[in-house]
Amino acid sequence: MQLIEGKVVAAAIRANIKERLASLKAQGANVGLAVILVGNDPASEVYVRNKIKACEEVGMNSRLVRLPEDSSFDDVASAIRALNEDPDITGMILQLPLPAGLSEEKLIDLISPEKDVDGCTVVQKGRLWTGRDSLVACTPLGVIRLLEHYEIPLAGKSAVVIGRSNLVGKPLAQLLLNKNCTVTICHSRTRNLAEVARGADILCVAIGKAKFVTADMVKEGAVVIDVGMDRDENGKLCGDVDFAGVSDKCSYITPVPGGVGPMTVAMLIENTLTAYCLQNGIKLD
Ligand code: NAP
Repeated sequence: MQLIEGKVVAAAIRANIKERLASLKAQGANVGLAVILVGNDPASEVYVRNKIKACEEVGMNSRLVRLPEDSSFDDVASAIRALNEDPDITGMILQLPLPAGLSEEKLIDLISPEKDVDGCTVVQKGRLWTGRDSLVACTPLGVIRLLEHYEIPLAGKSAVVIGRSNLVGKPLAQLLLNKNCTVTICHSRTRNLAEVARGADILCVAIGKAKFVTADMVKEGAVVIDVGMDRDENGKLCGDVDFAGVSDKCSYITPVPGGVGPMTVAMLIENTLTAYCLQNGIKLD
């Protein structure tokens, strides 16, 4: 079994972004990421801090827009509209989840697709589904980059994605389809889930249930990608896959932590750079 070391791959990607950004800045480029954080969700505070820190490390401008827990729809909408118009801001993300009562869907709809660096607007999702250049949700994009980095063959392979969220499962399935996998998407109503999962050459799990996927659900030699970020019975960070049991059976596996997680932040920074290039007609590498 080979470990897929997202932490190492993400560090290399960030170093590459730093170089590309430095050369763009030398030509006068102004690249900036804005993060809107509404309320005081402790997990979101950590994620946002990591995103801002990652910007600083590569020399990218960043702006944290903090709004109080009791913000109205109009308060958040105004912040999004202001960032849409702001020439210093290349990309923005609205940190989810939002406090109860605020419609994520309606607020995401207000983000300018050109600045949608988490690929969450209907326009960017439509571009992905129709095979056009698009800004793709960071976590699924990070998964594909890991598979590419380890040169794992995808064309013609059977890929099973467990989880169908708009943020992870659905775009990941589409990306795998674009790579010519034969894709099955599973969810909470899937019958015979273990049997379907056992058919996977590439098994991706994004459900949010600690150690849910056990060895009996995995084909010998499968590639296992664990997107989950959960807590085990002792409060320790773990994934949706029972790593100890599954790692003996598969050919590759992502650890949690240190697998998919670090790629998400690296892809956010990369997407911001990509957005800058698309906005300014600069050819992408
Ligand atoms: P989500 O929006 O809650 O979606 C969970 C999906 O899993 C749903 O489609 C649900 O099915 C499915 N599901 C739940 N229980 C299931 C079961 N017993 N059998 C089969 N399918 C089941 O979650 P998400 O945002 O996609 O996140 C999933 C996990 O990834 C979480 O642990 C999250 O923390 C993690 N995550 C990690 C990163 C990262 O950077 N590493 C980024 C994002 C998310 P239904 O649609 O039928 O309800």
